[in-house]
Amino acid sequence: MTRTVLLGTVGALALATLAATPALAEKPATAGANPFATASTLPFEAPRFDIIKDADYLPAFKQGMKIQLAEIKKIADNPAAPTFDNTLVAMEKSGRMLDRVSQVFFGVVQANTNDALDAVQTTVSPLLSQHNDAIYLNDKLFQRVKSLYDKRDSLKLKPEQAQLLKVYYQQFIHAGAMLNDADKATLRDLNTKLSSLETAFQQKLVAAAKEGGLVVDDKAKLAGMGDGAIAAAAEAAKGRKLEGKYLVPLQNTTQQPALSSLDDRATRQALFERGWTRAEKGDANDTRATISDIANLRAQKAKLLGFPNYAAYVLADQMAVTPDAAEGFMKRMVPALAAEQKREAAEIQAQIKKDGQDFALKPWDWDKYAEQVRKAKYDLDEGALKPYFELHTVLEEGVFYAANQLYGLTFKRRTDIPVYQPDVLVYDVIDKDGSALGLMYFDYFKRDNKSGGAWMSNFVQQSKLLGTKPVVYNVCNFTKPAPGQPALISFSDVTTMFHEFGHALHGLFANQTYETLSGTNVARDFVEFPSQFNEHWALDPKVLAHYAKNYQTGEAMPAELVEKIKKAATFNQGYALGEIVAAAMLDLEWHSLPADAPKQDVDAFEKEALAKTGLDVDDVPPRYRSSYFLHIWGNGYAAGYYAYLWTEMLDDDSYAWFKDHGGLTRENGERFRQMILSKGHTEDYGPMFRAFYGQDPDIGPMLQNRGLAPEGK
Ligand SMILES: [Zn+2]
Repeated sequence: MTRTVLLGTVGALALATLAATPALAEKPATAGANPFATASTLPFEAPRFDIIKDADYLPAFKQGMKIQLAEIKKIADNPAAPTFDNTLVAMEKSGRMLDRVSQVFFGVVQANTNDALDAVQTTVSPLLSQHNDAIYLNDKLFQRVKSLYDKRDSLKLKPEQAQLLKVYYQQFIHAGAMLNDADKATLRDLNTKLSSLETAFQQKLVAAAKEGGLVVDDKAKLAGMGDGAIAAAAEAAKGRKLEGKYLVPLQNTTQQPALSSLDDRATRQALFERGWTRAEKGDANDTRATISDIANLRAQKAKLLGFPNYAAYVLADQMAVTPDAAEGFMKRMVPALAAEQKREAAEIQAQIKKDGQDFALKPWDWDKYAEQVRKAKYDLDEGALKPYFELHTVLEEGVFYAANQLYGLTFKRRTDIPVYQPDVLVYDVIDKDGSALGLMYFDYFKRDNKSGGAWMSNFVQQSKLLGTKPVVYNVCNFTKPAPGQPALISFSDVTTMFHEFGHALHGLFANQTYETLSGTNVARDFVEFPSQFNEHWALDPKVLAHYAKNYQTGEAMPAELVEKIKKAATFNQGYALGEIVAAAMLDLEWHSLPADAPKQDVDAFEKEALAKTGLDVDDVPPRYRSSYFLHIWGNGYAAGYYAYLWTEMLDDDSYAWFKDHGGLTRENGERFRQMILSKGHTEDYGPMFRAFYGQDPDIGPMLQNRGLAPEGK
């Protein structure tokens, strides 16, 4: 039984939807049967996007839940004494149909939704939450798991089996299995309400972001943006039936990409404010009332489960274990970070003066003038880089190449696998020995019906027990070029591709018997470790030389441009790190509310929480404001946004280890695959990391990498 989890980037969406999964007795498919009723007959059990219709999802969910409940009842009511096989293995095998439909539905509804799919999600989210409760709050079932857990030392289990038992036991406790019947009823009610509110938040936000795009009548107001971007804005407006106008769509973050290039300050301010207030318009898409309700209900849930607040409840089964550990880790960065922010703000203010302006720096000026400072200091022009980053070349000659050099993987494009949208690319992933490792989809371009950000998840999860290999996808929001134009992306987009592919490797190298422990089914503050680690290879000299080629001439990126990118890598970290720390602290603050706190005024609460960070939040607002912080209100990363920073520590430590041992080599890659990427959750995170790194995680390499501490060991 697994959860469907979408793994986002730090700049991105990351949703987890509790979908207690897996089936037992499946009826054979009949003509016209639901496409999720049986396993797909396509290679790797790839989803049947050729025959799946919107109308198939809801019946499949309902049928899948019904089948699994029957399976679970049979396990719970089994007159035979509990054994590992008749309880845990049986649970792992349960819910196959529900698993299939969940994995596909949540992938498609995030990447390519429509009104019908939104309606399915609204209906199904509370049902899944109730379904999850029906399993995890089933006392007979829990007593079987508990009796096994209580005598675990005498069961002679193999390590992966012992881990599975421990993880199930903890999941039951976490879900409230120890509560009395009255409290369980309260918990069920809270969970149902929360899942509806979380879905409502997500849907409001998608609509608000769509509405929020900046419409411009006069092309002159977009001066500075570049012809390609202006053409894309005209195209975007056309798509919205705004012929002759220009639409700058919103990305899900506070800062908007166009802010680094727009010359007109009023346009910049307008675009920034469209983003900042996107979900605070007092209309049907305003998310604030939903947020204060979610925060309040989560605090009540935590109290019911014996925790002082929701953050303490969430952190209990993470690598950090306590909110204090997560917060303390961030607080250690604040002094160096605040000093750096002050220095950067002064530098940018000076640049504004130099530009002949006399206004005081505002957040909508930061990127524009930071870009000028960058050019002046490093002589690096983002626009000059783009011709070297053509998306498909970056993918095949960069992302795939690094995976080949480190792990021996090869990739083969295939066009015979059906997709849910024509832009989606599919590849076979072939292991070092020529055997099939898995199947991989890439959906790179922004669409109005796609959630913001970038993420990875599985359509099919790896499991030896179930005989499945991983089917993995990456989704991003890169600007789609006008027809006939090349897809030139920024270096930050390149990094996002490496990031999401790092998650994909974690999914593809999964080598577990049990789906629950497989691949990326790990704690939040561990799961971003492989993805962030993979980002490092974007700048590896051998990898960069292989993919950064001029799309017109094929010429390699000149050495001096490469040098400039490297030198500029630690530029603007007061902003880049600061906006993440501010968002992470805001997240922890929201989820530290006690159950008896009144419902909060969202803006007032946010203001106070940010003031407490000790950072320059006026110039460097949080990467996500409360009202559009999808990571934490859409479910997945509540009290968990800090995980991106925590895992950055892990990935920078690991990269330092690679550097000390010869860098990009097959030998190093193999060791990382064996000790981290292929392990899923078969071991506890602390020991797993220590075995690889040789010691506990240490913040030094991260601060050095961010340019906030002197180089050296
Ligand atoms: Zn990620």
